[in-house]
Amino acid sequence: MMRRIAGVELGGTKCIVVMADETGQITARETIPTLDPVGTVAAIEAVLDGWWQEGAFEALGIASFGPLDLDRASPSYGNITSTAKAGWRDTPLASRLAARYPVPVAFDTDVNGAAFAERRWGAGQGLDDLAYVTVGTGVGVGLIVNGRTTRGIGHCEAGHMRVARLPGATWKGHCPFHGDCVEGLAAGPAIAACAGRDGATLSDEDPVWEQVVDALAQMSQALVSIAGPRKILFGGGVIASRPVLIARIEAQLRALIGDYLTLPAEDFVMAPGLGSLAGPLGPIALALDLLGDTAT
Ligand code: ZN
Repeated sequence: MMRRIAGVELGGTKCIVVMADETGQITARETIPTLDPVGTVAAIEAVLDGWWQEGAFEALGIASFGPLDLDRASPSYGNITSTAKAGWRDTPLASRLAARYPVPVAFDTDVNGAAFAERRWGAGQGLDDLAYVTVGTGVGVGLIVNGRTTRGIGHCEAGHMRVARLPGATWKGHCPFHGDCVEGLAAGPAIAACAGRDGATLSDEDPVWEQVVDALAQMSQALVSIAGPRKILFGGGVIASRPVLIARIEAQLRALIGDYLTLPAEDFVMAPGLGSLAGPLGPIALALDLLGDTAT
């Protein structure tokens, strides 16, 4: 008898609701546009209600865009908090779904979900220390340290760290909070704003990639210095459409580390093993972890 685990991957433009078993096989899948919170959450519930009527699911995982309140001791635990996305600020998410379905509910960031999916079924199998980076409309980092995600004062996000600028660089960057943080230099909208046109139309030799590679390599160096991941996986639309960047980021990272640390000789910076399934399988992996189903 295969287990029935439900998952919600809530992204900024679309939400993927899946039913899957413990092997990561997706048995049902619905995609909902992410519009206003009232209509979107109701649409998520309609899908889950239908599946629930076919037979109770054992657990529910939610992996969402943020920032999120991930502090279980907080009264607003499970909410989307200070997001710049219109209408979604202070939206209860996990608490609302947990009240509707009497099962364990796992809640984490979309990228932490993807990191756990990669650890369970993808390129990070068997690793207790792993980083998953997405470079798309933003830069997000899922980080597993000693087999767990990081917590603390809030939804920490390495994509917003500040990095040194390339010599002579003066462009102000594109992050609404920080200007030239990593996301402000390397995310898809930043690339388009800096280059003056969609990044997909640029050649591999365009100088904007030097800025992208440099920012992501510096962020990777910080991740290595702080948490010692055994692999760093790079996904998201910007990387998926230009996979040549992965080798460039790795070369720059190795140069930045120098002789200080010995990195694994191969397969250290890689594409996700699950490809585009890392996202939708994220909440399933989170739910299985919550149930105590050990990743093998
Ligand atoms: Zn920022």
